[in-house]
Amino acid sequence: MTTVDLKSQLTGLVKLQTVDTEIYALRSEKESKPEQIKAMEAAFEEKKQHMATLEKSLLDLQKQRKDRELELGSKEEVAKKLQTQLYSLKTNKEYQAMLQQIQDAKADTSIIEDKILELFESGDKVKNEIDQEKRRLQEEEKIFLEQKKKIEDRIKEIDDRLAQLEAQRKQIIPDIELKMLAQYERILLSRDGLAIVLVKDSSCKGCNMFVPPQVINLIKMYERIITCEVCNRILYIEE
Ligand SMILES: [Zn+2]
Repeated sequence: MTTVDLKSQLTGLVKLQTVDTEIYALRSEKESKPEQIKAMEAAFEEKKQHMATLEKSLLDLQKQRKDRELELGSKEEVAKKLQTQLYSLKTNKEYQAMLQQIQDAKADTSIIEDKILELFESGDKVKNEIDQEKRRLQEEEKIFLEQKKKIEDRIKEIDDRLAQLEAQRKQIIPDIELKMLAQYERILLSRDGLAIVLVKDSSCKGCNMFVPPQVINLIKMYERIITCEVCNRILYIEE
């Protein structure tokens, strides 16, 4: 390969690298997107969990209240029954005892009534919380969907740009010798999408390590491809 050839080949590789750098960055950005959406979905699902807990405690309270109402009904039934029996009693002693039983039953019912009232109030409190939570969740869902849409739009944008870049790549590649292209692509894959780097101020712009003057001289001779001794990337200089 002549001097002019290698120089122009390197220029071609630098051009290709510009395209590939953008492709590499866009691909890794795109790869991170599904994880982002998943994390957002998980966070939203977790927020829904609180709602589920509230709904469950409301059901519990309603069930407790119904049980208490049944209990109240049967206690009232008992008191009523005793009341009707009261006047059929023969002795004063029996009468007094029955009266006491009726009073006890009435006291029981009033305790149960208080409990039912409490359960009503607790239920109302939870209902209010559920209403608030519903509004908050609607707001959260709106935000979640907006963010998701933003990410999806960005993925679409990336795909469009990647298609453009692939087209540019196809235009550059025919000018590069196959063997050189193969070497470049090998390094590209193993070195985080960066295969050809500038040497500036005696340092490799790929790994920032010192490049000795004799290596710089070798680059300037354009006899063969020179790679960095540390990071193995192809080196070039700006003249
Ligand atoms: Zn290097």
